[in-house]
Amino acid sequence: MASLLIKGGRVIDPATKTDDLMDLLVVDGRIAERRFPEKGRGGAPSDGRVLEATGHWVCPGLVDMHVHLREPGQEHKESIESGTRAAAVGGFTSVACMPNTEPWNDGLSVTEYIVAEARRRGVVNVFPIGCVSKGGLGEELAEIGDMVRSGAVAVSDDGRSVGNSYLLRMALEYTKIFGIPLIDHCEDRNLSAAGVMNAVGNLAPDRVADLCNAVTAGELAEARRLHDELFELNQAIFFDTNPVPLKYMMARLGLLPAPEVRLPLVSVSSEVQARLDQVLRKAGLLVTTNQ
Ligand SMILES: [Zn+2]
Repeated sequence: MASLLIKGGRVIDPATKTDDLMDLLVVDGRIAERRFPEKGRGGAPSDGRVLEATGHWVCPGLVDMHVHLREPGQEHKESIESGTRAAAVGGFTSVACMPNTEPWNDGLSVTEYIVAEARRRGVVNVFPIGCVSKGGLGEELAEIGDMVRSGAVAVSDDGRSVGNSYLLRMALEYTKIFGIPLIDHCEDRNLSAAGVMNAVGNLAPDRVADLCNAVTAGELAEARRLHDELFELNQAIFFDTNPVPLKYMMARLGLLPAPEVRLPLVSVSSEVQARLDQVLRKAGLLVTTNQ
């Protein structure tokens, strides 16, 4: 029996609601035992390997649903080998790669190429995402059936929205037949035009709107003043890993029921909470002291 003891790590597993310092004994690729080091039970199995994990998180392999492996065609940016190695270093054991390669992954040959190369040189699971439309141009439906049969797990035109509603409808009907998701970039380009985005819009939409209006009207001094007013709120969003502070502040203002975050798997610390409360009070968004 091949065994491995992962020692001293912080074991985080959302499925079992585990977040604890413990040792894990893995036998033949399966978790055979969880040990709490402070209880002094067990010890390294004499025949097994020991992996020192103090200061690290031990969690189920992460899945990234939106990566760009760039291969084929743009290997100067990334390759299946380099991208999957980077994924493994970050704790990701599965990645789904977007179709904007060169050529776009809009048919059987590119999907087959990615699957074969991933098997040969990839170090984590690679799940190709095929195009919705040929070449991602939004004009003609891609070969969805062929791509699914070759291993595509979803379709998407990546950062391009499918602007033609009839085409999108046909694509949705096809994906329903194959039981795969369609991942759409939800943007109406006629509406978004040269629009702007600011995360603080979640906290103080009127002030961000005032800022945009001032810029549009050419009142740059006023725009600068509004920008300075919002600056501390903007900075506060990065007091901790995104989106932890934003979720906390939205919950604090009653805009979200709870400051829940999916990733990163940790919640906001009491120290960061106090700092964020201070910023919200200073900005006049949080008014009473016992709120
Ligand atoms: Zn993308």
